[in-house]
Amino acid sequence: MKHPISEAVLQRFVAGRASRAESKAVVAHLIRGCPLCSRQLAALVHPGAPSGGYDSALDAFAEGFLDDLEDFEDMAARGLAGTPRPAGTSPRAPG
Ligand SMILES: [Zn+2]
Repeated sequence: MKHPISEAVLQRFVAGRASRAESKAVVAHLIRGCPLCSRQLAALVHPGAPSGGYDSALDAFAEGFLDDLEDFEDMAARGLAGTPRPAGTSPRAPG
């Protein structure tokens, strides 16, 4: 699998500073299920997390994250991507 996403772009994506094109590229790549980039992204989101013995937590994270990504792709398909989601309107309850 190709990795068109550099770590710098992933970092900007996590920080919310990626351009729309970069965000789209990251999402499009992750939606294909790249485990390496998912892991890298998880490490960026949870810095300091142990790299070993963390699989179940990572799986749980990736699962919810992929849900969000599908959401995002759906929004992108309707041309709404880039519109910030107002606080407190997350489709999933925490926990
Ligand atoms: Zn990748």
